[in-house]
Amino acid sequence: MLLELRRSVRTLRGIGSRRELVLADSGILTVADLLLYLPYRYLDRSKESRISELPEGQEVTALGQVQSTTVIPGRRRRFVLTLEDESGELECVWFSGHQYLRTAFNEGDFLAAAGKISRFGKKRQIVHPEVEVLTEAGEDTRIHTGRIIPLYSISARMQSEKLSSRGIRRIIHDALDTVGSEIEETLPEGMRTQRHVVGLAEAVRKIHFPDSMEQVDAARTRLAFEELLCIQLYLGSRSMEVGSRRGKGFVVPGDLAPKLIEQLPFTLTGAQQRVLDEIWADVARPSAMHRLLQGDVGSGKTLVALLAVLPVVEAGAQAVLMAPTEILAEQHRRTLMDLSKPLGISVDLLTGNMSAGQRKGVLAGVRSGETHILVGTHAVLQEDVIFRELGMCVVDEQHRFGVAQRAALREKGELPHLMVMTATPIPRTLALTLYGDLDVTILDELPKGRKPVVTGWRPVADREKALEFLREEVGKGRQGYIVYPAISESSSGLSTATGAFEDLGKGELERLSLGLLHGQLPAEVKEEAMAAFRDGTIEVLICTTVVEVGVDVPNASVMMVEHAERFGLSQLHQLRGRVGRGTHESYCILVAIPDGELTPDALSRLETMARTTDGFEIAEMDLNIRGAGQIFGTRQAGVPEFRFADLRRDEDLVVAAREDALSLLAGDPKLRRHELLAAQVSALEANWKTISDTG
Ligand code: ADP
Ligand code: MG
Repeated sequence: MLLELRRSVRTLRGIGSRRELVLADSGILTVADLLLYLPYRYLDRSKESRISELPEGQEVTALGQVQSTTVIPGRRRRFVLTLEDESGELECVWFSGHQYLRTAFNEGDFLAAAGKISRFGKKRQIVHPEVEVLTEAGEDTRIHTGRIIPLYSISARMQSEKLSSRGIRRIIHDALDTVGSEIEETLPEGMRTQRHVVGLAEAVRKIHFPDSMEQVDAARTRLAFEELLCIQLYLGSRSMEVGSRRGKGFVVPGDLAPKLIEQLPFTLTGAQQRVLDEIWADVARPSAMHRLLQGDVGSGKTLVALLAVLPVVEAGAQAVLMAPTEILAEQHRRTLMDLSKPLGISVDLLTGNMSAGQRKGVLAGVRSGETHILVGTHAVLQEDVIFRELGMCVVDEQHRFGVAQRAALREKGELPHLMVMTATPIPRTLALTLYGDLDVTILDELPKGRKPVVTGWRPVADREKALEFLREEVGKGRQGYIVYPAISESSSGLSTATGAFEDLGKGELERLSLGLLHGQLPAEVKEEAMAAFRDGTIEVLICTTVVEVGVDVPNASVMMVEHAERFGLSQLHQLRGRVGRGTHESYCILVAIPDGELTPDALSRLETMARTTDGFEIAEMDLNIRGAGQIFGTRQAGVPEFRFADLRRDEDLVVAAREDALSLLAGDPKLRRHELLAAQVSALEANWKTISDTG
């Protein structure tokens, strides 16, 4: 936004090298940045009346002439300025800054003083008012008084440089005066009238200096709409590109997939069958699939992925499956290998943690085509990973990757089919924002025999009992996880995985076989631990959230989470998804600090977990508690934090922006007639790319 104002703030009057640095520290480099540095709150000082009629206890602005100024000595020296109009008097009182104040006012000056009126004995006064000296009575170019005043957040750096909210207000006011007329409109006229949104110049001005709070709303709506529109234009142009691209169609289902289905120890769920038919129909078409598979934890997405790629592999092309963690990638490799070995298919693994020799071997197989399915972490995106012929890409736990990463994966092939999978159900607004360029399929059925995980939360005082319960379950042949929020030596006094591994091993769980798993262990150690847990050698896995996504050990039936108050709702749901994957009754015990010490948000998270196992309900709650930016942390999801839009509040705007974006693109796919919007979309794309590159 405001691309035309991307010049240094130094070009503005009143900003020298010193202020430039202070502002840069808060990310304000250009004039545009400055104008989009939004108030966090407003103060209504628009009420003005005769001094004698000003109400007490409210924000008001008093206008009058300086009658006298004096310093009153005492324990707390006061500077008192008496302001009068024809109706009465008012005292303005300061306890500090006397030196400056003494020279700032002259008797007879016209003054506007704003603040809350209080009573002191018989006198009415404002303590530490905001004042402006007016050149003439009634002059109307005031910035700090007599109107709705914007308040800006002030960084520590600004504070130490004496740049206050008042100072920022002045700078922005002057900037608007000098460059406000340069602001170019970005939205087509027709769209603006249809959506009743105000012009950009107006919005930028009114968001700082509104005449009413309705104007603030209108301005914010306008900025949010444009922000959402650009995202939708980006997603829309990508999906049009994809839709128009010819891809390769494969024969479905072929021989391999039915053969595999026949060999399974269970039958596919109805949902799996239905979803596969949908996916296969796409795969058969000579245009690239672009599909999101959404299914709650444990719904059996991995098998769907394998069955989906089999026709591709059967035709001699390759497939790649990308997962967010090494542990998960390793598990997928194992699962796929076990399932597909009888079919004569080769599955290889590539992660960032392999020796140069191993890596070389894998890359050679991928290049020659010997590797049919490559499973890996984002290491598969590296430049030297070259496929002989990549026919299909699958991204597991898509919400852990960025938009640009999934694009990068596709570029490894010539228009390969793409399927992204996620267990995080997301509300509609968010789906449109994150996945607006994908067709969506929902896997809405769990395999037969699954019982909901019995979930409870307990205060730490009951930890002993929880461990006792875990021992009993292990006694019955089950296994369990205990999850900690930190690996080791937490400065915040939290129990840690490493600490607990030692303590429990010598204490409560002495007689059980324990394993330790966290992200900082070398890859082989992690692999060994997982393998030992999978084959039952390890009975209880003490770990961090490395097991959060995807890990599948059906015999595990207890998930205990320590410091459960520290975890987010979606995270807890994912963790709980590690149990209840077999036919055993399963349990999730959330151990938290006592009731009274929990924040309302933490309490609400724990209660939600205990109340429901429905992933959608949990996602909605999560969005309510935290907001979108945090659920899909910027780097994880590759989505820029919204500056103006709020997905909880702006559902209608999201839908409107999407409609408008699609109809705009239909008439002008390259946005040639909307240069400014096109430039904004490119900027967004570049931003997304850098986010995911560092992610
Ligand atoms: P997710 O959707 O969370 O990725 P997984 O693919 O890991 O779930 O599958 C969870 C478990 O369910 C695995 O152990 C898998 O073998 C099993 N599974 C998958 N499909 C079925 C089915 N139709 N019937 C029974 N078990 C199944
Ligand atoms: Mg999975």
